[in-house]
Amino acid sequence: MRPEILYPLFAPLTDLKGVGKHIAALLEKLTGSGHVAGLLWHLPTGRIDRRASPTIAEVLPGQVATLTVRVDRHFPAGRSRMPYKVLCSDGTGRLTLVFFNARPDYLGSILPEGTVRVVSGKTDVFGGEIQMTHPDHIVSEDEAASVRVVEPVYPLTTGLTPKVAGKAIRAALERAPRLPEWIDGPLLQARGWPDWRTAVAEAHAPVDESDLDPGHPARQRLAYDELLANQLALMMVRSTMRKRAGRPVAGDGSLRRKTVAALPFSLTASQTRAVEEITADMAGEAQMLRLLQGDVGSGKTVVAALAMLSAVEAGCQAALMAPTEILARQHHATLSRLAQAAGVPCVLLTGREKGKARTEALAALAAGEAPLVVGTHALFQDDVAFRDLALAVIDEQHRFGVHQRLMLARKGRAADVLVMTATPIPRTLMLTAYGDMESSKLTERLPGRLPIDTRVLPVERLDQVVDAVARTIAGGAKVYWVCPLVEESEATDLAAAEQRFAHLQERFGSRVGLVHGRMKGPEKDAVMAAFATGPIDLLVATTVIEVGVDVADAAVMVIEHAERFGLAQLHQLRGRVGRGERPSTCLLLYTQPLSESARSRLAVIRETEDGFRIAEEDLRLRGAGELLGTRQSGMPDFRLADLAVHGELLAIARDDAGNALARNPGLSGARGDALRTLLYLFERDAAVRLLQSG
Ligand code: ADP
Ligand code: MG
Repeated sequence: MRPEILYPLFAPLTDLKGVGKHIAALLEKLTGSGHVAGLLWHLPTGRIDRRASPTIAEVLPGQVATLTVRVDRHFPAGRSRMPYKVLCSDGTGRLTLVFFNARPDYLGSILPEGTVRVVSGKTDVFGGEIQMTHPDHIVSEDEAASVRVVEPVYPLTTGLTPKVAGKAIRAALERAPRLPEWIDGPLLQARGWPDWRTAVAEAHAPVDESDLDPGHPARQRLAYDELLANQLALMMVRSTMRKRAGRPVAGDGSLRRKTVAALPFSLTASQTRAVEEITADMAGEAQMLRLLQGDVGSGKTVVAALAMLSAVEAGCQAALMAPTEILARQHHATLSRLAQAAGVPCVLLTGREKGKARTEALAALAAGEAPLVVGTHALFQDDVAFRDLALAVIDEQHRFGVHQRLMLARKGRAADVLVMTATPIPRTLMLTAYGDMESSKLTERLPGRLPIDTRVLPVERLDQVVDAVARTIAGGAKVYWVCPLVEESEATDLAAAEQRFAHLQERFGSRVGLVHGRMKGPEKDAVMAAFATGPIDLLVATTVIEVGVDVADAAVMVIEHAERFGLAQLHQLRGRVGRGERPSTCLLLYTQPLSESARSRLAVIRETEDGFRIAEEDLRLRGAGELLGTRQSGMPDFRLADLAVHGELLAIARDDAGNALARNPGLSGARGDALRTLLYLFERDAAVRLLQSG
């Protein structure tokens, strides 16, 4: 149960004064949270200093100022395009307030002639007049103090004005309770960090420019809180898994030998080492929680298959879970082929297996007749039971949460868990996303692989690109063409892809296909199949996920708006080509203007194919909010911590969490309560539940 002290923060947004359904929806869009707490995490990115209170004669044009003036006379807009003007004075000069599209009755009510008003906004000189266009604030003299301040500036969303957002955030701040301290005393002192409530208040009340710095004590503390919650939750998950006694699962190698013998290639040294590490871990008493890290196309699937077969040798079952339907089907095909050499069948279980197929699959799993299964999150469902699941392999799991990972492991008796990721993860992120997981790495380029020729071109050279595509297709190879999500709305995004599709169809006719996120499964599969082996040679795709499929003949990858992608995504997309023997090319089309960091990203991707280096650069170059779909790139989603800046705090949070749990595994007593509050504050409820279930 969430501690009562946090109730005010987890109330719906509509509980705040002045926030109705409409505004609540906008705020939720802005902060990604329907709770009051979300507003607290929405930190200002700027400030407006309204403390300057010159007389009109002293005004410096261009300056933001708060002036006390007498309202002399209104000049309503005569013709429609003329602004409405209100003439004011203060004995030292005249000030004209300017309003476009004004509502005269409203202006009449807030600026009655003959009264004294305090107005705040940016001043300008226009045609010899000192003007203020659309003052940000107009109040009476007794409210002047509330205006003559430094005002925080928040990122906004369409339809939400600074005034409305600011008011809601202030209301949220008023609700912020005083919380018990969860940070270790000596650390708090050494860093000079304020308590939580003070930190939140200070972070939202920047006075100087330096108060906006992520290194400011208040912001550091909040970042640390978030990292501490993250580390604590991960460690609790980890220790829960450790507590549940593992069991040794060791095969005799008979099935693996057959499969390896049937491979058309020999395993690389790092593949062999990875298989040894994994099977040794499985044979140990403790439950395995291991990461298999390797670049796209580095040959992880074979490694996973061999690990799974070793579980089957021991008389147990193994499951592989993929993040999407398409990937599940592909893995199923690959795994079936590999296991067939050893005479082991493999079933498929996704949301689309229904009726008889599903019933049969479930029965086979429950009876242990199906030793291997590949599926999507459909594998989590309650009616899925195994006779004896010993190994759960999870592909590209950053799309699944820690919690879900555990759910699959729980379907087995102390099942070992192997997480495969195609996104090499920088050391710092490894900690936040996985805690202290063991890791096996595939680092070699597979024999016979050619480097990919990567080029960066302005979109103005589209015609040349299309010509290159034509040559590629004529040579019998396949081409991907990715049109990313550019707009927030899926509809416009789709329109852009459809337009490109139509444009390419003019030239290539029925050899062009289109897949997008709104297509139904079977429809999508049909297009994918036609691309992989059939008549479609050029595939236009809207989303990254759809192209996560192996097509050996794919030799060219065109990416539009490449400047919008993160490095990890570009790298992953590029990895879709160059999987066969053909020389391959990646064409990155960009649209001006290029930001400094976009320019650097494109330079890095052109320079190197080393996924581990790209991952480090990705972290270094990521511009907040500038990139598409960072969620998909394996980066944990932090609201307050920026690992590029607060990375140093992560190691401290990790030690602190480790010490706290070592001393106090049940999180009892005062500090335990405080840490629990922290977990709930950052919505790590699942971790707390683990604690309760033992
Ligand atoms: P990943 O899952 O890491 O993206 P895959 O396991 O799909 O990579 O492997 C990519 C391709 O390389 C597959 O076609 C696979 O058969 C092939 N492959 C795997 N290991 C080797 C190897 N040692 N030598 C040559 N080809 C390999
Ligand atoms: Mg793969």
